Amino acid sequence: MSTEPVVGSDARPARVAIVGSGPGGFYALQSLLDRDPWRVTCDMFDRLPTPYGLVRGGVAPDHANIKAVIKVYEKLGRDPRFRFFGNVKLGSDIQVADLRAHYDAIVYAVGNESDTKMGIPGEDLPGCHSATDFVGWYNCHPDFLEKRFRLDVENVVVVGMGNVAMDVVRILARDPDELAPTDIAGYALDRLREVRRLKRIYVLGRRGPVQAAFSPKEIKEIGDLSYSDLIVSPEEVAFEATPTERAAWDKDTQQNVEYVLGKAKEPAGGAGKSRQVILRFLVSPVEFIAGPDGAVATVKIEKNKLRYDDKGQARAAGTGEFFMLPAELVMKAVGYRGVPVPGVPFDERKGIIPNVEGRVVVDMESRKPLPGEYVVGWAKRGPTGLIGTNKPDSVATVDAIASDFSGKAEPPRTAFKPAPQEMPELLRSRGTRYVTFEDWKRIDAEEVACGKAKGKVREKFIRLDDFLHHVKPPP
Ligand code: NAP
Repeated sequence: MSTEPVVGSDARPARVAIVGSGPGGFYALQSLLDRDPWRVTCDMFDRLPTPYGLVRGGVAPDHANIKAVIKVYEKLGRDPRFRFFGNVKLGSDIQVADLRAHYDAIVYAVGNESDTKMGIPGEDLPGCHSATDFVGWYNCHPDFLEKRFRLDVENVVVVGMGNVAMDVVRILARDPDELAPTDIAGYALDRLREVRRLKRIYVLGRRGPVQAAFSPKEIKEIGDLSYSDLIVSPEEVAFEATPTERAAWDKDTQQNVEYVLGKAKEPAGGAGKSRQVILRFLVSPVEFIAGPDGAVATVKIEKNKLRYDDKGQARAAGTGEFFMLPAELVMKAVGYRGVPVPGVPFDERKGIIPNVEGRVVVDMESRKPLPGEYVVGWAKRGPTGLIGTNKPDSVATVDAIASDFSGKAEPPRTAFKPAPQEMPELLRSRGTRYVTFEDWKRIDAEEVACGKAKGKVREKFIRLDDFLHHVKPPP
């Protein structure tokens, strides 16, 4: 009989690596630490020197209330069973094979780091950007610091009607003075203050108001802006819905439809504010066309009508009727997409890590599991849902982990594991300057202090050296 202590006992806590420190990763951590009497220690890795993923690099600067969730993550970060290794990239600083050797279980919480392509001509023209680039840029995300946007234009087209589109619209349609006290990147605020000519921001939805993906709160926030009018023309939202159809709408849909129809009843042209946000429904860009300088100048658009498939889903179908809109800047906000992690299976079609209820599988055809490997968040289910959606999603994956290690079956990986202190030693031996949670707290305090001096909630560091300056050398 084996004398090895049971994995998950006081004598031998289960060792779990979490790759990615966004909401999915932190909710997985919370659920793992809460699994009394199962004992666990968790190491979290992030390729960035900072934790919190999209809460830091994606949530809009004027949505401080959404970022308040960080308080929960901070508390978890101080748990003695947890270690953070920031500035450690899986696939270069560390390999999946290293994680397999050191940990009983790996949870991938890598999110969706790229954007969906529209697949139409001209989408890579200068001036035609993915909204994810703009969001990363104004949020000081290290991947997007070099991006340049031609912002002082008269007409902008935003493609898509989800909450990312709403964020982008708000940043462009807001009085920059209102953004000044937020944690927006200083360079982005300077550029937004220089915008003088901007008049119209067209927001294009390929389906109707019933199918719009924005949340009621987000569209109302745009309607309430002091700097911009929200314009909806009545003919764009003229549709009949039977009582049965209306009864099938969820609360958000009802509120969205009511709000948009209400806006359509307001005087045409709005109240004469500096800028106009113009919602256009049932339209699809079919081509982005360059002007004489080679950058985007016009968008060719096809009008749509709704067709219902055999499952009753409303689909946009082109009518063959086209029109043009001027746009010297285009923001495509048509969804995120995952990027493959070296050594980890990837479902090219869905842009996620293939999994069955959070257990990573080699591919969706064979559904052959990779023992001890799990996935949470957008990498598990795709780019849908609010931050809170990740909590039950991560708990479900941790349920699978706990069940796999419950002792009823052979745990996925019971072989000898190196002692916990060997991971930092391995990283150091490879010359990786990792950021611990204590280092991050010093960075955090310094960013807040720099912001305070400028009347902002935070001034985010930009250069890696600024972060590493606060990293304490190992004893
Ligand atoms: P999303 O909610 O899926 O919205 C994507 C939008 O793009 C939809 O309007 C979609 O239209 C449209 N679209 C997709 N492909 C298109 C194409 N080829 N041509 C034209 N339009 C196209 O995605 P998201 O805005 O990126 O947001 C991702 C998730 O993050 C969402 O769950 C969102 O709620 C969440 N989020 C929340 C907040 C917040 O709470 N403040 C902020 C940002 C993001 P169809 O509906 O017709 O497909």
